[in-house]
Amino acid sequence: MNKEGFIKWPMYGHREKELLEETLKSGNWWRMSGSKVKEFEKLFAKAHNAKYCLGVSNGTHAIELALAALNIKKGDEVIIPAFTFISTFNAPIYEDIVPVPVDVDPDTFCMLPEAFEEAVTDRTKAVIPVHMAGHMCDMVRISQVAKKHGIKIIEDAAHAHGAAYKGSYAGEYSDAATFSFQNGKIMTCGEGGAIITNNEKLYERLYLIHGVGRPDGDKVYQHKLLGSNDRMSEFQAAILIAQLERLKEHNRKRTENACYLDTILGDIEGIKPQKQSSKITINSHYMYMFYYDKSYFNQIARDEFVRLLNENNIPAFIAYPVVSQTEFARNKDFRDHISMDYTQYDHALTNAINIAENVVWLPHYCLLSSKEAINRIGEVILHIQNGENKNGK
Ligand SMILES: *Cc1c(COP(=O)(O)O)cnc(C)c1O
Repeated sequence: MNKEGFIKWPMYGHREKELLEETLKSGNWWRMSGSKVKEFEKLFAKAHNAKYCLGVSNGTHAIELALAALNIKKGDEVIIPAFTFISTFNAPIYEDIVPVPVDVDPDTFCMLPEAFEEAVTDRTKAVIPVHMAGHMCDMVRISQVAKKHGIKIIEDAAHAHGAAYKGSYAGEYSDAATFSFQNGKIMTCGEGGAIITNNEKLYERLYLIHGVGRPDGDKVYQHKLLGSNDRMSEFQAAILIAQLERLKEHNRKRTENACYLDTILGDIEGIKPQKQSSKITINSHYMYMFYYDKSYFNQIARDEFVRLLNENNIPAFIAYPVVSQTEFARNKDFRDHISMDYTQYDHALTNAINIAENVVWLPHYCLLSSKEAINRIGEVILHIQNGENKNGK
């Protein structure tokens, strides 16, 4: 806990230390001889009612692997939300697949099922909905559209560990769901990822591709198919076993505090928090996001507003850019993986552009902090609004 009352992230306790030390002493530091990755996979699958889980190197590789294992190839198209972290866009490009960005809901920031359906062509092979900030997408409608057109679904659940929609966790309505355990995520081992699926054949392919084609336990250099090395190490898994033990309670506490923060910020003119659909059972609240309207803040630009929050020791960031409007996408610099002029999609991405330009977010650990710390967020924002922005003076 720092002096402003926000907890420090990442968080660890005696369990992380104990499991790391066990791993260190075991002499088994990679999954092919150790037991920690296997144990973590079992626990993480169970936490999401899934049959299979594969631990991998990170969340970006998890998406690449899922695309490869589903046989989606060069020249195919996958539909993604325009408002997401860049990996949802980059992973297909790395597999020579063309990502097609579609618009998101202005309230929940999640992919619009109707925008997804409109973007389907005969080249569309998959859709990658992103559960933005822990708010799950409308998976019933997305899976109906996908089924109708014979399209695979990979859920990008990098924000949605333990999140649920209509009582179902990520992985239930899709072919596979991918997760990230990068430093800022709600469970972390610094860098890491996972894929869950209920499809045994797909799991076997994922396993082979993630470990240079070698089956589990191989000692005689079998390379059954072309694969790279995306394996998770035993140390990553040791930390994640401990992190998973806190997930449920953390999701509960963040939900409680997000509701509380909604009541505080909901009263401030010019601040409009991300809304929650009634179909959400558990929102994991990876980010607390809100629209910022500078016309209620003496025309203070969003960047300056974020800087003032930071100056007052409130962690805050501007929203992701629209993936297809990033510098390399604008320069059409895809290093020959694909060739595409993404400006043709700009007109259809109104909501995503508005979010990218006007939204501010607070990290999840703000919601694990005390009520006093959360009250202070509202107080500081009001001070800024009233032009008293120098440390509340
Ligand atoms: C963090 C994140 C990823 C990528 O995960 P890494 O582990 O950092 O590679 C993918 N998608 C989304 C939406 C993310 O936020």
